[in-house]
Amino acid sequence: MVFWFIPEGGEDRLRLVQPYTPSCYVETQDSSKLDRFLASLSKSPSFVPVGRTHKKDFWTGKDRELYELKVVNLDRAYQEINQLYRKHPDLSYYDCDIPFEQFFGYKHNLFPTSYCRFQYEGENLLDCEALEQTGDTDYPPIPLRTAQLHGEGYLDPRRASLQYLALQMGDATIEWETDNLSDLFHSLNAYLDDWDPDLIWTTGGDSLLMPCLFHLAGRLNIPLRLDREPGVRRKIGLEGRSYVSYGRIVYRDPDYPLWGRWHIDHRNCFLDHESDLDGLIEASRVSRLPVQRMARRSIGTGISSVQMAYVSQRGYPIPWKKSQPEGWKTGMQLITADRGGMTYMPKPGAYENVVELDFVSMYPSIMTNFNISPETIDCACCPDSKLRVPELGYRICEKRKGMISGSLISILEKRIEYKQKMRAAKDPREYKRYKNLQTSLKWLLVCCFGYLGYKNARFGRIEAHESICAISREMLLRTRELCEEKDYSVIHSLVDCVWLQLNGQSHEEIDTLCREIEKETDLPLGIEGYYSWLVFLPSTQHEDLPVPARYFGRFEDGSLKYRGIEIRRGDQAPYVQIVQGEMLEMLSKAETLSAIRAMEADLRALVEEADQRLVERQVDLQDLLLKRKLSRTAEEYKSNAMSATAARQSARIGKNLIGGQDVHFVVVDRKAGNPDERIKIVELLRQETDFDVDFYREQLRRAVGTLLDPIFGKGKFYKV
Ligand SMILES: [Zn+2]
Repeated sequence: MVFWFIPEGGEDRLRLVQPYTPSCYVETQDSSKLDRFLASLSKSPSFVPVGRTHKKDFWTGKDRELYELKVVNLDRAYQEINQLYRKHPDLSYYDCDIPFEQFFGYKHNLFPTSYCRFQYEGENLLDCEALEQTGDTDYPPIPLRTAQLHGEGYLDPRRASLQYLALQMGDATIEWETDNLSDLFHSLNAYLDDWDPDLIWTTGGDSLLMPCLFHLAGRLNIPLRLDREPGVRRKIGLEGRSYVSYGRIVYRDPDYPLWGRWHIDHRNCFLDHESDLDGLIEASRVSRLPVQRMARRSIGTGISSVQMAYVSQRGYPIPWKKSQPEGWKTGMQLITADRGGMTYMPKPGAYENVVELDFVSMYPSIMTNFNISPETIDCACCPDSKLRVPELGYRICEKRKGMISGSLISILEKRIEYKQKMRAAKDPREYKRYKNLQTSLKWLLVCCFGYLGYKNARFGRIEAHESICAISREMLLRTRELCEEKDYSVIHSLVDCVWLQLNGQSHEEIDTLCREIEKETDLPLGIEGYYSWLVFLPSTQHEDLPVPARYFGRFEDGSLKYRGIEIRRGDQAPYVQIVQGEMLEMLSKAETLSAIRAMEADLRALVEEADQRLVERQVDLQDLLLKRKLSRTAEEYKSNAMSATAARQSARIGKNLIGGQDVHFVVVDRKAGNPDERIKIVELLRQETDFDVDFYREQLRRAVGTLLDPIFGKGKFYKV
């Protein structure tokens, strides 16, 4: 096992090694099966049999007899265990499939970027002890040397090329001429050695730049020193893969992590996008997942690691399921798709004096407060449990504390602490850091719920997932009832939110109401905000995304909140979103609905000018691009829908996209007889390309109508 350290006060990074021979286990009641398994092990270079041993079982909590093996060759073990599994599929396997560096962290209570005390001799690590815990909230930012690698390349087996390359660190930037690649690579290596960054950022490095560099340098036989670790061999490929997740097709770029330092691709890192590097490192620490893996995998992989660490540290071997949990994209998708908590439709319309009450981290709070976990539902130890799930009647364990509750509680508490620190922060940088840290934990918490309902997840169990939904529905129902008993007018309730229209009640009365709801539901409730006005829109079914709530409103402090409207949606042209944003900005100045009505002339001027810009073709083509996610490859499409045509146009210029990848195009003539003339993908746009004015005016009209129809009356505002 190789370790990299940043010694305190030192410039040089330390590479140390320590031998590691972890144990793994197999189980069978049938001794002849075990004999056959041990016989095939006799030729194994990776595993050495040890003997029978006893371990507690995660699912039942009872003792089991297992057979222990030692892993003596970490490099080959994964491949071999998969072969053994295929040969002996009826044995149960434990602690076999977890990446060893991750497993080492569980067993030695270490985690990526932990501050630790260590001893070494030569290049051998003798001892290493973490001086902090994953739950600590006051660790300083990690002192990393960070570089940016910018470049443009083209990679095709026959004609790979590099058009541009630059390396930037601190104030220094080196740009290379690309006419002599051999000189370029030697120079790049020299700068990498000299600057020795810990982290290299790229934009698109996984999908193109890294494979391009490795491929070109390989052809010239120049080993690149992008890795700190010497002698790394990798297969170069550009193919990502797509997979189906919750009925949606998702595309994943190929991976180019580095050895001995980090490569993170802004485009291939969900957490970087949501919460910057701070949030990525936080998630990596909490889940004990190496930073580069956390960057590239789904949040579900992170939450899975949180759970495995919890289980492993309590002495249970980790059961192996063949398929690795994959395919978590975002938690909100699932919540939207699942709509487990949705019971009511709002009364569409414009309201004044509204308060929104939100249950704080509702699903995780249910899991921890009601002890919902895969092993606690209908457990064998409590046949007469008094704890029952509403509607479904499942029993909940009264004896054991569930793994979910145990592993989540510290993340929940940590997030609350970060939020407090965020609110108390005086310096904007400090505020941003705590915001990132808490956002990253929010995603882990959100995903935990979805992950439980995911059948391929190691600790997934659909009954536990259903139980959470049932409890959330029950609690929302009780909340509505309690509010109505107290004569509040409930406008809408959804999953974990309730909107009440106030009729002169004071903020103190609302605070009292919140405490009463908390007592009734055993769940923490907060006030999201007081709205001066709020507009609920009728729910419409969009192409593939059911929108459970569409609304926009103005809080008393003048800030806005909106959901489900054009400005929030990925399938809209930027121009339409910009105009809607300008209108919202104007609306936010109005403290009442009648103040909005008084703005009619200004609003009308804004809309007419925006419309006129389309008519006069004064809009940049980039602002008219529509984005669509492909559901299949060009050949697989049968229809002439816009996405299908875009896929075909891409294929024609050599971009063979697969399901889950995005296409960007402009509508040039929606009514053209030839489908190919209806749209143009971004790559085919020319300065003189004309666009379909009527199509975009119609899009604009809808976005205007969304905001103004509920206030001014339908269609009153916009004349085409
Ligand atoms: Zn029990």
